[in-house]
Amino acid sequence: DIGSLPAPFPELADSILDMFRLNNKAAAITGGARGIGYAISEAYLQAGLSKLAIIDYAPNDVAVNNLIERFPKSQIIYLNCDVRKADQVKEVIEKIHKEFEVIDIFVANAGIAWTSGPMIDQETDDDWHNVMNVDLNGVYYCAKNIGKIFRAQGKGSLVMTASMSAHIVNVPQLQAAYNVAKAGVLHLGKSLAVEWAAFARVNTVSPGYIATELSDFVPEEMKNSWYSLTPKGRQGSPRELCGAYLYLASDAATYTTGTDVRVDGGYCSV
Ligand code: NDP
Repeated sequence: DIGSLPAPFPELADSILDMFRLNNKAAAITGGARGIGYAISEAYLQAGLSKLAIIDYAPNDVAVNNLIERFPKSQIIYLNCDVRKADQVKEVIEKIHKEFEVIDIFVANAGIAWTSGPMIDQETDDDWHNVMNVDLNGVYYCAKNIGKIFRAQGKGSLVMTASMSAHIVNVPQLQAAYNVAKAGVLHLGKSLAVEWAAFARVNTVSPGYIATELSDFVPEEMKNSWYSLTPKGRQGSPRELCGAYLYLASDAATYTTGTDVRVDGGYCSV
């Protein structure tokens, strides 16, 4: 009877699930009104998050109102921002800080995928720069501004959305710009984890092929080709990513920094 054995770490035995709860914490999420970001927003609120700031490009009243109705005990605010614009990112992060006083968790998740051509010689310069500006520079602007706050607070957890494309070249989609930007996010995570080790944690999540609007455009034959390369043999859902984002944000991960959690159905393992 395992229950009668003395617990090796009695202080953990009672509180292990509590370590995953986000009660009394405040979080901000870019791209939090749609797709993966929306799933993370909802998961954090279900885990008891007290204050949530959703930062998004286009107004998305439906998603945000839905959260406000379902989680009336939490304070939820929406801020419109283009993460490509350094001044806008600075302004919204300062606004959230003023409103919440403390920001415990920041999820830099906003991203775009599609570029004009699958091969670099078919891609326009504008497309290359746009992918870099949203997927890498946008994350950098967020990290830079939240880092100042984390340093002043002496605490914080930054989670950034990378991709399986940070690890491998996604045949047959290719898309060098996206792969390079996401590899940059992955390495930014490792660099900041070292820079900020004294006061904050920094980690990345690398989703595989997840069912959202971002991946919706992909032709059926390409989807089937991906499924055949994925050991799980199917696409993932945003909900299946939430455990990773919850863990990295929570006090269950106080010794976890500079790492990447791949949630890709095994894609990058084979
Ligand atoms: P969606 O297209 O569903 O959502 C993207 C979100 O990012 C939207 O909320 C969008 O805002 C926001 N966004 C886009 N551009 C900007 C911008 N310039 N400024 C502010 N916000 C912006 O995509 P996913 O949920 O699938 O993607 C989320 C993240 O996950 C991205 O970083 C993506 O690269 C990554 N990812 C996704 C995978 C997938 O298969 N779906 C696989 C691997 C990684 P708005 O609604 O206002 O346009």
